[in-house]
Parts: sequence; structure tokens; C-alpha cells
Amino acid sequence: MSITKVWIEEGCIVCNACEAECPDVFHVTDTTCTIRAEVRVDGTQSENRDEMSELNADVQSSLEDSIIAAAAGCPVEVIKYEKA
Ligand code: SF4
Repeated sequence: MSITKVWIEEGCIVCNACEAECPDVFHVTDTTCTIRAEVRVDGTQSENRDEMSELNADVQSSLEDSIIAAAAGCPVEVIKYEKA
């Protein structure tokens, strides 16, 4: 199994828990959480809610456990992902 896409729905409370758990993927700004450009096929940093860019192939498996842990730890459950 691997995670092909991860994105942030509306409602992030910028608590920073996800970046603490998985800093390779998540970057929390003053207003929201973003998915880092470095791990995305489209090379854009954003919530990835509109773009729905896939993760780079090399991190889909290597960061799977860390992304799942971050999603489970989000207090408002706005981290969403697709598995393949
Ligand atoms: S854990 Fe959830 S609420 Fe906290 S910064 Fe990340 S996405 Fe936002």
C-alpha cells in the first residue's frame, strides 16, 4: 500500500501537530497547513485541495506511515489522503 495523494480540507486550526509528526510532507503557515512542493508531482506548495496533485513516487511508500500518523493526530480531522 502507498499514499498517492494527501490534502488539507478547510478548517485547519494551525496547531502544528502534523508538521511535528511528518515535517517532510506538511508545512504549517500562519493561516493553514500546506503540502510541501518538494514532495508533489506538480511542485506547488498549497493545501492541495484544488490541485489534488499526486505525491512523488519515491515518497508514496516511504512516508506512508508518517502521513497516516499525522492524519490520525489532527485534532480537527482535516488531513485527507488516498491510498492505492
Ligand atoms: S494537525 Fe490538522 S489542524 Fe493541526 S496544523 Fe495540521 S492540518 Fe492543521
